[in-house]
Amino acid sequence: MLFKFLLLVGIFFAIYIIFFKRSKKEVSNERKKKSKSTPKGDIMMECEKCETFVSEDEAIIKDGKFYCSKQCAGIK
Ligand SMILES: [Zn+2]
Repeated sequence: MLFKFLLLVGIFFAIYIIFFKRSKKEVSNERKKKSKSTPKGDIMMECEKCETFVSEDEAIIKDGKFYCSKQCAGIK
């Protein structure tokens, strides 16, 4: 009876260790993914005219140059 109990405890302990290790690995993998991938709009571009930094998504590209607004780009 005692042997069976110890065996059960051992099995549960092994499962716990495996689960704990897996969850730890998953967390570290998620952290790596987050640090590697750059979210959209995170890249800042400098306006050619007024030198204001604007995110790449909002920037206006004219003649291969970045502008913060239509006014700076000269678009009416
Ligand atoms: Zn500007």
